[in-house]
Amino acid sequence: MKVAIVASEIYPFAKTGGLADMTGALTKEIANKGIRTFAFMPLYKSVDKEKFGIKSIDKYIKVYLNNREYIFEIYKYTDHATYFFFKNDELFGRDFLYSTPEGDYPDNDIRFGAFNLAVLEFVKSENISIDIFHIHDWQTSLLAVYLKEKYPDVKSKTILTIHNLAYQGIFDKFTIERLNLGWHLFHMEALEFWDKVNFLKGGIVFSDIITTVSPTYAKEILTPEYGYGLDGVLRKYSYKLFGIINGIDYDVWNPETDEYIYHKYCWRTFEQYKPLNKKEFLKEYNLKDENKPLFIFIGRFAKQKGVDLIIENIENLASRNINLAILGSGDKGYNDFFSSIISKYPNIYIEVGYDEPLSRKMYASADFLLMPSLFEPCGLNQMIAMRYGTLVVAHKTGGLADTIIDISEPNGYGILFENLSDFINAVDRAILLYNDKERMKKLIKEVMQLDFSLEKTASSYIRLYQNLIYG
Ligand code: ADP
Repeated sequence: MKVAIVASEIYPFAKTGGLADMTGALTKEIANKGIRTFAFMPLYKSVDKEKFGIKSIDKYIKVYLNNREYIFEIYKYTDHATYFFFKNDELFGRDFLYSTPEGDYPDNDIRFGAFNLAVLEFVKSENISIDIFHIHDWQTSLLAVYLKEKYPDVKSKTILTIHNLAYQGIFDKFTIERLNLGWHLFHMEALEFWDKVNFLKGGIVFSDIITTVSPTYAKEILTPEYGYGLDGVLRKYSYKLFGIINGIDYDVWNPETDEYIYHKYCWRTFEQYKPLNKKEFLKEYNLKDENKPLFIFIGRFAKQKGVDLIIENIENLASRNINLAILGSGDKGYNDFFSSIISKYPNIYIEVGYDEPLSRKMYASADFLLMPSLFEPCGLNQMIAMRYGTLVVAHKTGGLADTIIDISEPNGYGILFENLSDFINAVDRAILLYNDKERMKKLIKEVMQLDFSLEKTASSYIRLYQNLIYG
């Protein structure tokens, strides 16, 4: 069986969020399980070709759209899987992947349309008979559409994984012409969406199977509240929709081998070393008193992540006997707000930016991770945090509800709140828990031994691939 993971970001080559973590780990795990695996992504300016040894194979793919030709130079990297990178600097040699802080690149339809078409052209020209194209989010949804429309003889199947329904890739209707899709696709049962074109909808309609990243989110997206206008289409296709919980790469996220943290540790040694991480972190970032619980927030500054709850409660948080470290970046309004209060509170450290080494130190040093997301398709931060022995305070939604059990229940190991208005109560429950040292130790030991590895996720996907091909 030959599987192609086609994605707009794959860790460690390019990452803006959980999508890259997942596609990177999935590529690696399914290859390790003996599946012939290919991965395809654009070659962005930020991809470090030298570091990874990514080399041109001196092959060029031409695609025609937008009334002109686009040429991609193909680059390659091989480990257990074979990765192909598609280079076109006009489209992808930019400072960001999808958008600047001011907004989306206006030609994202051309950028990702051209990339999807180039992948299909390349596979055809190389005679690689792919059994399954596993595509991810709106950026690669059009691959399923092009495959059915332009390559009717190719028998490959497609699986679309929706990582976040809030991002759909919506463009004006004339993108139908720019992308040579044909006006016959511009109707309610295909790509049309309120007189515009919706890439993700195309993926939903044209893929053989749709998955999303947790069982709870798979149910939530069938409702108007979470469906972002696509709940009707998803209900229609719910027979081919599955919820498969994501996982994290246990080699990438491992406090026993993490080179960025102050002191390495595992579930056997955390009692000795996790407090030392905390001590050094507080010192480095100018926070005082290691006896106070350290809370952290790491994530995109987007409404989805519950950033407003943190802002509304910032005085409440500052007045509590805690330390708080916040790392994130995203929407300009949030960036500006957090930048404006950087040195306002002695017990709150704020960094506006994207910084993986700092995030690792935070996971290793903290007592609690805050995840007040309004909705959360899966969420990886909570899994990473628990792997590093940091307990989670989270809104009970989507993947957070699937990966955390509240301490009020038997076998519980985290703090969940159902109503957003209970956020600060949940923080207070965490402070109470923190004062029960024995219970804290027991819970930390427990969460560090839970299995959130992507290996399990990969096995579920392989079963899905097999069912699709062999029935
Ligand atoms: P998303 O919705 O952003 O994909 P996930 O929880 O699925 O959220 O994944 C977030 C990933 O991005 C995690 O690996 C997290 O550590 C990382 N991350 C998010 N924001 C930052 C940041 N500002 N700096 C470093 N890493 C970040």
